[in-house]
Amino acid sequence: MTDLDLTLNDPPVREDGLCAVDGKERPELAVEKGDPFCSQLCCRVYYGVVFPSDANSRPNAKRRKREAGEEVTMTGRRKVAKV
Ligand SMILES: [Zn+2]
Repeated sequence: MTDLDLTLNDPPVREDGLCAVDGKERPELAVEKGDPFCSQLCCRVYYGVVFPSDANSRPNAKRRKREAGEEVTMTGRRKVAKV
């Protein structure tokens, strides 16, 4: 994917000033920046970049569990002393 043009073109800001994706009101900051989306999520939805975590927005919970379970694997060590 070397020649991929990553220049993203935002959709024009709607005449009514609402989010281009879900039609919600945009926060002041977005209006200031001329950002046509009300949130980063809407931006990602527009460009087709949606994370699984967006669905149940609970950051960290899953990752912590996985890290805790990873240490269990180092138990199978036994010395074989054969002469
Ligand atoms: Zn939106």
